[in-house]
Amino acid sequence: MKQLYGLIGKRLGHSFSKEYFTKKFEELGLTDYEYINVELDSISEFPDRYDELSLKGFNVTIPYKEAIIPYLSELDEAAEKIGAVNTVKLFSREGERILKGYNTDAFGFKQSIKPFLTSQHERALILGSGGASKAVKYVLESYGIQCLFVSRTPKEGQISWDDINENVIKWHKLVVNSTPIGMFPNVNEFPQIPYESLTTEHLLVDLVYNPEKTVFLQKGEANGAHILNGLSMLQQQAEEAWRFWES
Ligand code: NAP
Repeated sequence: MKQLYGLIGKRLGHSFSKEYFTKKFEELGLTDYEYINVELDSISEFPDRYDELSLKGFNVTIPYKEAIIPYLSELDEAAEKIGAVNTVKLFSREGERILKGYNTDAFGFKQSIKPFLTSQHERALILGSGGASKAVKYVLESYGIQCLFVSRTPKEGQISWDDINENVIKWHKLVVNSTPIGMFPNVNEFPQIPYESLTTEHLLVDLVYNPEKTVFLQKGEANGAHILNGLSMLQQQAEEAWRFWES
């Protein structure tokens, strides 16, 4: 019988996950496994489409990482604390169908940044306050790193883009781009920060993985900062999703 997995989102187009898992199933010789893209115009379509497809597990992407939560039976601790889900597993407990939500973005980010963190990274500036930024904050705080969000519409305790000056950059040795700025096809765009204030003590992390070296990272590198892109986070989050589905 076909074992169906998939990605739930709004407009999926080319999806990393479909390519990744299709290749993985081939490599593992899992000929009856298939990974499909499932586009929903609204999350309210989820229950009917889910029943129709009987997915054994699925990933969730923009804009449904939070909206999926009311449809799930339970969340693991990280997903609960972050308030966003990007992986769901179906299993049965005492005859009852359970849909459990996880946040493997957090795991992926943790694994990818771990080797790069030093004692200098006491404070982080997180650009953007969307879904992924919450996973970033969750991980960095678990390392005791203080986080400050930059938002176009700053809430209490956050700052605006105009507030980022030389001192803010000096004070935050870790800067994480958690916005889609610079992502394909807008590859010439970059977050507006004073790059000339960066030093060799800074680490710039871009969650964007296409292109592999965004202008944000190029400018950081040109000013002496260490850089890390979103590719290893992406691979690690997919591997963690697979471990949950197979456990
Ligand atoms: P999202 O929920 O849409 O949030 C992005 C946030 O960035 C928005 O909430 C907004 O924050 C800010 N933003 C968006 N457009 C902006 C603009 N033009 N100028 C300034 N700020 C802007 O998206 P997300 O899920 O958090 O993902 C963010 C990025 O991370 C995407 O590029 C995504 O592909 C990438 N990502 C990568 C991985 C990985 O594994 N590498 C995993 C997840 C996400 P404010 O409203 O507060 O300004």
